[in-house]
Amino acid sequence: MHVDLRSDTVTQPTPAMRALMQEAPLGDDVFAGDPSVNALQEKIAAMLGFEAALFVPTGTQSNLCALLSHCQRGDEFIVGQMQHSYRWEGGGAAVFGSVQSQPLEHQADGSLALADIEAAIKPDDAHFARTKLLALENTLGGKLIPFDYIQAATALASQHGLSRHLDGARLFNAAVAQAAITGADARTEAARIASCFDSVSVCFSKGLGAPIGSALCGSRDFIARAHRIRKMAGGGMRQAGMLAAAASYALDHHIDRLADDHALARRLAAALSGIEGLTVEAPQTNILFVDLTGAARDKSAALVQHLNDKGVQATGLYRLRFVTHLNVDAAGVDYAASVIRDFFKA
Ligand SMILES: *Cc1c(COP(=O)(O)O)cnc(C)c1O
Repeated sequence: MHVDLRSDTVTQPTPAMRALMQEAPLGDDVFAGDPSVNALQEKIAAMLGFEAALFVPTGTQSNLCALLSHCQRGDEFIVGQMQHSYRWEGGGAAVFGSVQSQPLEHQADGSLALADIEAAIKPDDAHFARTKLLALENTLGGKLIPFDYIQAATALASQHGLSRHLDGARLFNAAVAQAAITGADARTEAARIASCFDSVSVCFSKGLGAPIGSALCGSRDFIARAHRIRKMAGGGMRQAGMLAAAASYALDHHIDRLADDHALARRLAAALSGIEGLTVEAPQTNILFVDLTGAARDKSAALVQHLNDKGVQATGLYRLRFVTHLNVDAAGVDYAASVIRDFFKA
């Protein structure tokens, strides 16, 4: 058996998604003439309550367009140490935009302490970069950031005149997890989260299962600025409608099923609990972290080799990450758990 739990980016388009891609009406999106791209942009903007949206090839480019549209040269954005837009994007805002980041440590639940945010906002003084933006991420490492916290942090940012950006690469995982708490619909929860922000980026190529693409949402003016950055970054795509059609299909058919991925992550966590040397975090969405502790740490390289030999793919060494998605099922998760159990029995 082969079980790929490295990331939810490994998902393959389903036959129904491929069929829709095949039929998608196409045009040249650089002339704003691709009907499928235009339809997707309107759909995601409306879903999340924004005036406009921009289809971009990657989540990284989406965040870059957002940061450079909110901030000018010499401005700064407040961000968490572990957020993608700070840690995992090659420092793009600094490299391409001369925009400084002000990273903060996360609290245990993934949030940034309100006092830390407030302390990081610089007064208008020639010594300091101009603090312009608060950037949050939800989910963060699979954690659902509590909604009341998001309301408080974004309100604080507004009081200080900052704009607010959400890296919602996995916004719909957050929305599905939040819906399980509130009893509301996942789309309603996604829109509620989005309503706290001036801009939101979402990935279609992760748990939603589309092959490529993200969208950046915001006001018409903001998206006009982002459009210019996208062009400079080389992200103006031509007959991109085939990709937009896949994303549109994902929005119609793959949101509610994210609950299945979350259930599979809990199933894997349960199957791994009680193994000596493993600390299994309780997953809130589709990402499970397992830490190797004590003597088990000495076996980490051997464990990774064992997993590879048995066809189970994950990331990490002392802190293993397993991500569930559209292309794994209960049998796959049970197999992965049995492979790990066997290793510690031997
Ligand atoms: C994956 C991811 C991105 C970037 O997406 P790419 O399409 O891989 O560039 C941005 N933010 C978060 C939180 C992500 O998980």
